[in-house]
Amino acid sequence: YRSISENFVYKSTNAINRKAPIPADAIQQVSRLYKEFNHASNLLNEKRNARSMIGETIRSSVSQHGKDDALKEGKALKEEIAAMETTCSRLESELLELGLAIPNDTHPSSPLGPESAAITLATHGPPCLPVSPARDHLSVAKKLKLIDMENASNVSGTSWYFLTNEGALLELALTNYAMSVAIKHGFQPVTTPDVVRSDIARRCGFQPRDPSHPHDTQSYHLHSISPSSPELILAGTAEIPLAGMFANRLFPLKSLPQKIVGVGHAFRAEAGARGAEARGLYRVHQFTKIELFAVTNAEQSESMMEEIRQVQDSILGELDIPVRTLDMPTEELGASAYRKYDMEAWMPGRGGWGEVTSLSNCTDYQARRLHIRYHLEPSKQNLFAHTLNGTAAAIPRLIVALIENGVEFDEAGEPVAIALPAALKPYWLGTGSQQTV
Ligand code: AMP
Repeated sequence: YRSISENFVYKSTNAINRKAPIPADAIQQVSRLYKEFNHASNLLNEKRNARSMIGETIRSSVSQHGKDDALKEGKALKEEIAAMETTCSRLESELLELGLAIPNDTHPSSPLGPESAAITLATHGPPCLPVSPARDHLSVAKKLKLIDMENASNVSGTSWYFLTNEGALLELALTNYAMSVAIKHGFQPVTTPDVVRSDIARRCGFQPRDPSHPHDTQSYHLHSISPSSPELILAGTAEIPLAGMFANRLFPLKSLPQKIVGVGHAFRAEAGARGAEARGLYRVHQFTKIELFAVTNAEQSESMMEEIRQVQDSILGELDIPVRTLDMPTEELGASAYRKYDMEAWMPGRGGWGEVTSLSNCTDYQARRLHIRYHLEPSKQNLFAHTLNGTAAAIPRLIVALIENGVEFDEAGEPVAIALPAALKPYWLGTGSQQTV
């Protein structure tokens, strides 16, 4: 909290640039009160210590009346100190709560402004096909029986889906393909719990609020079995359980970086999403996501960001679809990212670029809140680590891109097959041709 009060002007301007205005007045007011009460509490403690030091010497010499007065005074002082300490700890909790609203600092190269201010860092892959409604992934997938949204809507509601036949095989092949590339790059495989404590999500920079809160449009909250059990949500991303896995741990410097690739399900309430944005598999309530996660020391995180970007490039590069990498602007950084790169794939049926991966360097933002530290041997110092997370594969979006770029038509213009990249061949469980579905 000292770093916040010392850099208050930067912190509040940065929060405004990130469209996450912080309760600056409240922070300053509570922080002033906390300092005053803390100071007063220290003075009272000093007084009590001084009294107890001289207490022994005068105890034997004073009258009974004097002793009673001294006892009364001592009791009053004790009560005053206890009340002061209660107030201090209440103010400290309030300050920590307010502090949660303060976003991470921003990389000096991140562009300023909304999504449209993103800078394209690179474009890869084959040339973009012309936009064509005939390539729309949902109509193609329905005709080829790769997806069933009608029965899923009876079972679970709109924006839920069954992947069927080669659609289901495609999910499995993409999952194993992405895992295998990540493992080749030294990431350790993990499967993650899909249910997480909402407190862990908050410490990662997400804000799953009270279920009745009208502004929580993202998280699915679970009913508690008993009033004393912790508040639980369905994980919006495996980043949350992966970051939580490292909570309260102290690493020797030489054991960093830690590199993990997790397979989990992401659950998104996506309240308010509708229209073309939500059509088919593009914006759904549950999806399999393969997530890259790293814990580094403070000097390693920028180079780790480039390393994770290379893993993402190699996963998407082998899928033979046009992709571009964007340096995301301040208003797109959320609470935790210091810098963020998104990758988009060309989706000719949807008629534009669609985000397929996201990579964030969270520096020490999550580590501070989750208490992830490393030990510097010579100076015997414990420092906060840095954390990074990046999508290796968000399955439904990859399926959208593969269908819309790979669909093949017969002479009548009907979709007959999807040409799949050779990179998926070793991971294909089907009995038919592995190049097409
Ligand atoms: P995020 O954790 O929001 O940065 O999302 C990571 C990746 O998941 C994005 O780059 C998208 O590819 C994908 N994604 C996000 N939300 C959805 C959704 N509702 N449905 C399908 N894919 C999604």
